[in-house]
Amino acid sequence: MLSVREVTTAYKGLVAISNVSIEVEQGEIVCVAGANGAGKSTLLKSIAGAERIRSGQVLFDGERLDGVPQHLITARGVAYVPENRRLFPRLSVHDNLRLGSYLYRGKPDREQPLEFVFSLFPRLQERLEQRAETLSGGEQQMLAIGRALMTRPRLLMLDEPSQGIMPKLVSEIFQSVKKIRDAGMTVLIVEQRMAECLEIADRAYILQTGRVQMQGGAAELMDNPDVRKAYLGL
Ligand code: ATP
Repeated sequence: MLSVREVTTAYKGLVAISNVSIEVEQGEIVCVAGANGAGKSTLLKSIAGAERIRSGQVLFDGERLDGVPQHLITARGVAYVPENRRLFPRLSVHDNLRLGSYLYRGKPDREQPLEFVFSLFPRLQERLEQRAETLSGGEQQMLAIGRALMTRPRLLMLDEPSQGIMPKLVSEIFQSVKKIRDAGMTVLIVEQRMAECLEIADRAYILQTGRVQMQGGAAELMDNPDVRKAYLGL
């Protein structure tokens, strides 16, 4: 479904990811793990059209995504939840969700995915009229994911959804990722919390200083002694 081929992305002189290749098949949950500054966010930005790639190709269903404007990438079925979430702080939960469905404006079924979003995150339904800025960190992450789901993506990309969130909500968010996949979507998730991510993922890539250092099945990586020592603290 998604094929990232030897992609290099640089900020001015600094190469953030170098010759990175990853594959995501339909229906998978794929985790990209790695330490701070390994290039995980840059990889997602390069796919989502938020950063221009220097070389390589990004293909979605066999068609080039690189060079395509960000809003058209969303329209093709790729949703992206950035690390900083970029909610509209002064707007209500409901309005933030509605803005996610702008592709369907004027259509009677514009808000159709709401039911699924509420089933994943009942807290959002309870807080529909609350301003986004007054939500807790975890609730804001739920809203950002909910808003992305309103675009009806086939591929959902999440940048460190666990960041700045209390532990109880972290597991809720990871469980919601499984439900999103079970509802027929494909998920690419970038995380520093590798253990939790491997638990829900089918496959994973580990980035180190901008390169793919290791890749494999999630269970296989979890059993790998080097991974256990270096990344899982076991
Ligand atoms: P983190 O978990 O801390 O977000 P990451 O794995 O997502 O880390 P990136 O944010 O992709 O890593 O950063 C990779 C490298 O690129 C880092 O060295 C970072 O300082 C650099 N970088 C990221 N964004 C920019 C930018 N806008 N301008 C210049 N350098 C950047």
